[in-house]
Amino acid sequence: MKTRIIIVGGGSSGLMAACTAAEAGAEVTLLEQNPSLGKKLLLTGGGRCNVTNNRPEEEIIRHIPGNGKFLHSSFTQFSQYDIMTFFIERGVALKEEDHGRMFPVTDKARTILEAFIEELKRLQVQIRTNIKVERILIENEQVTGVLLEDGEILRPIGLSWQLEEKPCRELDPKATAISLPKLLDIPSRNYTRPKRR
Ligand SMILES: Cc1cc2nc3c(=O)[nH]c(=O)nc-3n(C[C@H](O)[C@H](O)[C@H](O)COP(=O)(O)OP(=O)(O)OC[C@H]3O[C@@H](n4cnc5c(N)ncnc54)[C@H](O)[C@@H]3O)c2cc1C
Repeated sequence: MKTRIIIVGGGSSGLMAACTAAEAGAEVTLLEQNPSLGKKLLLTGGGRCNVTNNRPEEEIIRHIPGNGKFLHSSFTQFSQYDIMTFFIERGVALKEEDHGRMFPVTDKARTILEAFIEELKRLQVQIRTNIKVERILIENEQVTGVLLEDGEILRPIGLSWQLEEKPCRELDPKATAISLPKLLDIPSRNYTRPKRR
């Protein structure tokens, strides 16, 4: 039986998590409270989406406000080059601007969102918009499902029930985010590779 994963929030983090989990073979449901995915993503980088930064990891970490050293382990698992490869392999041409900042050549954040959505479709991720998660349900120290605003409960094991009377501990679903710093000046370059499919 396939592992079933529920992802709450169709922002940058949720979109990437959904792609990664589905690529690894899970049956993924993505829940988003807005009518469409990636609302904030479309506003990033002044509507152009500063996808990542092309400077070496050490330099990026040095420019993180406070102590950025905690990011070392994240970078070893998924680096700025991995995210560039992710988009380039899906047909998104990227360009480098000042401070190593990477943007889609189209200068449109929508290009990035569309690449995500195309990938979610290819991987058969179930996308449910206009769905607000009210609570994450935890029983015996384990996440057992999510309670939706309309009282429906979704379980990662693939079943769905109406609201039960069983008491549950509550956990606020909070999204985390980082944004990359501005770095030094280097000339603009274009990065292109043929479409994967
Ligand atoms: C003006 C501005 C410009 C920025 N520019 C850049 C940039 O160029 N490059 C960059 O890397 N970063 C940029 N950022 C930062 C970037 O926007 C965030 O890092 C990124 O959006 C975080 O993604 P996320 O998925 O963690 O959160 P979000 O994008 O906020 O996504 C969270 C999603 O979860 C949904 N959600 C929340 N609660 C629930 C619930 N209970 N039930 C269902 N759905 C729920 C929300 O509706 C939302 O769609 C910018 C930020 C701002 C404010």
